[in-house]
Amino acid sequence: MSEFDLLVDLHKSVLRQGPGSDAITKRALELIDQDLGKDKRIADIGCGTGAQTMILAQMTEAQITAVDLFDEFLHKLKERSERGGFAERITAVQASMDDLPFGNAEFDLVWSEGAIYIMGFERGVSEWKKFIKPGGYLAVSEIAWITDSRPTELEDYWNEHYPEIGTISEKIRILEKAGYSPVGHIVLPESCWIENYYEPLKLEFENFPVRHHNSPEAEDLIRSEKEEIEFYRRYKDYYSYGFFLAKRVN
Ligand code: SAH
Repeated sequence: MSEFDLLVDLHKSVLRQGPGSDAITKRALELIDQDLGKDKRIADIGCGTGAQTMILAQMTEAQITAVDLFDEFLHKLKERSERGGFAERITAVQASMDDLPFGNAEFDLVWSEGAIYIMGFERGVSEWKKFIKPGGYLAVSEIAWITDSRPTELEDYWNEHYPEIGTISEKIRILEKAGYSPVGHIVLPESCWIENYYEPLKLEFENFPVRHHNSPEAEDLIRSEKEEIEFYRRYKDYYSYGFFLAKRVN
């Protein structure tokens, strides 16, 4: 199994693949002043197994196109959407976020939780803009510094893993420059990381290597997940996810 396959296999068994919560998805939705009725369309990019997709379906009447690169995540999402009675409103599309099969101004709302870092925040917000109707909205969550300064060890770690990490105000500035009007932001609380993401993931740590015959690759993956969790516990006062809501300017 490739590194990617292992990563997908580990993360598909949990309800969400990144920090977040149903309550935060709802609060973010409340910051958007927009009718999301039957004739409206939402894209949920990097949807994973669909934690936020289900909330979008519950809270709106819009048609939802849920996009992910990995079929195994989309399969779980489809199961969830059928169980929830949303099969007719949620369409799963397997595609890469940097090569989306959409036309100009197709969507009233483009949503993406914990995924835009894959193509980079700046590139993502500027390339996805064309898919949003003028006057429509973008909602993205992205890792961000939550203080002005921080320990060198932490700075070095993130500069190596994701050099685009920036402060909340820097992220908002990028949105302004890309032609959006920011309408609000939320900083994700610790519960979104620990209770909703890391704790459920930790439950898989014992079984996962066994399932993969204790292969060095599987052991390595668990080790790096544990390091990430430890790192978060040590430095959580300095970084979190910011959830950014912005309107595409006419
Ligand atoms: N929104 C979900 C998943 C976030 S994890 C949640 O918050 O729970 C990031 C997601 O992006 C994963 O589901 C991963 O499969 C997906 N992904 C990775 N590379 C991608 C790409 N190039 N295009 C689209 N999705 C991608």
